[in-house]
Amino acid sequence: MLLRQWGEDVLLFTHDQGPPDEENAERLEAVGVDVVDGPVHSVVVEDDRLRGVRLRSGEIVPRETLVVSPRLVPFDDLLDALGVPAALQHDGPALTGRFVPSGTGATEVYVAGNLSDPGAVVVTAASHGLRAATAVDVDLVQEDADAAVTRLRAGRTAGDARAARPPRPVRSARTTRTA
Ligand SMILES: Cc1cc2nc3c(=O)[nH]c(=O)nc-3n(C[C@H](O)[C@H](O)[C@H](O)COP(=O)(O)OP(=O)(O)OC[C@H]3O[C@@H](n4cnc5c(N)ncnc54)[C@H](O)[C@@H]3O)c2cc1C
Repeated sequence: MLLRQWGEDVLLFTHDQGPPDEENAERLEAVGVDVVDGPVHSVVVEDDRLRGVRLRSGEIVPRETLVVSPRLVPFDDLLDALGVPAALQHDGPALTGRFVPSGTGATEVYVAGNLSDPGAVVVTAASHGLRAATAVDVDLVQEDADAAVTRLRAGRTAGDARAARPPRPVRSARTTRTA
């Protein structure tokens, strides 16, 4: 139905998916998409151009363009290697992906893009990247602060808290004249 936005002559080849259910069949009919039921055998190509779709019955349906729905296969072994708990994403009975839902408490693992949201498009995935980078920075700052507190406490115990502090960064050098 999405493709119907771009052209009036749209057919749906069901191939091995079976005919659409009653509701979808009615919708397709309403928007003017005819359904070609039955398995597809091959495409017909002449002079390096698509000419049609050959059904297993032998019938050739003339076509200039063919769009095939991709079969998504998760490529996410890294999740197992890292031991990160992941949720499953299905499209009907097919497993199409695994992802790490937000709030999953895996320490020191930051996820972005389709690994956190399988439906994310490029612009969303990029914004996740920014969020992940910010989370990394915040965690590193906290880690540094924790380490500084540990040093401070150790210094207090030793009676020299000042020596335990890391040197402060110099912000500016100003010369003051005295009379
Ligand atoms: C058919 C299709 C059409 C799409 N069309 C659009 C579109 O028109 N516009 C749009 O904005 N978005 C589109 N998207 C979505 C877009 O592809 C994603 O939003 C985007 O790719 C997500 O980026 P990502 O970095 O999260 O994942 P990916 O782009 O999948 O990048 C992950 C990378 O990690 C690599 N990788 C995996 N495991 C390992 C490992 N163990 N070690 C090293 N590398 C590893 C993979 O090889 C891959 O290169 C489409 C997606 C599909 C499937």
